[in-house]
Amino acid sequence: MTVKGPYFPIFFDLRGAKVLVVGAGMVAARKVAALLAHGADVTVVAKEFSAPVRRLVEAGSVRGIEGPFRPAHLAGMRLAFAATSDPQANRLVSREALRRNIPVNVSDSPRDCSFILPAVASGGEFTLAVSTGGKHPGAARAIREFLEEHRAEISVRLERGRRRKAIRAASGKVYIVGAGPGDPDLLTVRALGLLRSADIVLHDYLVPEEILSLSAPGAKKVCFARRGKTAGHGSALKQNAIHEAMARLAREGKSVVRLKSGDPLVFGRGGEEAEYLERAGVPFEIVPGITAAVGCAAAAGIPLTQRRLSSSVTLLAGHEADDKEDSGIDWRRLPTDGTLAVYMGVARAEGVARDLMEKGGFPPGTPAAVVENGTRKGQRVVRGRLADLPRLVEESGIRSPALLFVGKSAALAFAGRREREKPQERYDGSVAQGI
Ligand code: SAH
Repeated sequence: MTVKGPYFPIFFDLRGAKVLVVGAGMVAARKVAALLAHGADVTVVAKEFSAPVRRLVEAGSVRGIEGPFRPAHLAGMRLAFAATSDPQANRLVSREALRRNIPVNVSDSPRDCSFILPAVASGGEFTLAVSTGGKHPGAARAIREFLEEHRAEISVRLERGRRRKAIRAASGKVYIVGAGPGDPDLLTVRALGLLRSADIVLHDYLVPEEILSLSAPGAKKVCFARRGKTAGHGSALKQNAIHEAMARLAREGKSVVRLKSGDPLVFGRGGEEAEYLERAGVPFEIVPGITAAVGCAAAAGIPLTQRRLSSSVTLLAGHEADDKEDSGIDWRRLPTDGTLAVYMGVARAEGVARDLMEKGGFPPGTPAAVVENGTRKGQRVVRGRLADLPRLVEESGIRSPALLFVGKSAALAFAGRREREKPQERYDGSVAQGI
């Protein structure tokens, strides 16, 4: 029998556990010593006893039975070890133990074992077990020695892991958190820790379920600002409702995560929310996120800046606010030798292209790219020339959320992007595990 999942009886609480050791040579003596050190109640059966085992029997530390192994010796045992020099005798112990559902270990014969004895390295708060499945005990020991030599580094790593685990949303406080462009693996460690521990998550419609599913099971999730419902005064009212909800919930002692797509301070009204909380005297913190321009650039393989191609990157909004037709941008003053990343521009793609060409002096042939659902399910990238932008958007049926890139770098498309063929509805935890 071979063991797949390791099974480590030495870590159990063996105090008072009845354990049978068959054999009393040097190998058995080592096992007996380890078992005694863990407080086991040891019985040794052997035809002959080596001096160290004999001394233990005489001292009354272990019970000694002189003679051949008999199945009856297994009665009431929690563990069995076979360590005689006779493979047949060892196999008999293994068979009889297994028949009685007693875990058994046979020295130097992994196939007769139902558990293995790994080399163990333990530090203050960790135990590392190394095993080669009994095939190469020397190698296991060498790895253990290596681990011991690197104990300091291991401790540092453990400490780092603990700090991450220790990120918890405090009660009575609002965290204005950037959720990144949509791929849960692009959350920051801090965003993830806060999301997992908050009582309430107030989120935008753009934050996907994959990310929301990372919140605590009992957390209340409230979506503010629904798609297409933001025109006119509704937007301002909604923003006030968000402000009031954040402040009220924090005052009630809740830990509140205000989760916004991308970065909260980039076209996200995070600044207004921070201002309100500051005025209201409610404690808050801003946690940055990967903004859509950065996420979409990586997803589409577009360098935002590149020597000789683009020496600046400008983030701008196609329309300044959802309730304003025009943007407050001075199109004449945009750098034409850099990359433009246009947020909220897809619905006004024609106007944006016209403004850039007519007011901004961008040549019609300037490369342009549109990234729809960057890093999210159904990501699409279309490319062409600035003059063709409206047609590209129209023909491909691209919708919000989408980001427009304009500039020479938009013609580039590096490979080396993360493939996300089938994002899950619920997050499967690829990166989040272990944090
Ligand atoms: N605070 C956000 C921006 C919110 S404004 C950030 O920093 O990214 C909403 C606009 O962001 C959308 O209209 C779209 O232009 C852009 N956007 C957000 N997520 C996107 C995504 N995954 N792919 C493409 N564009 C996105």
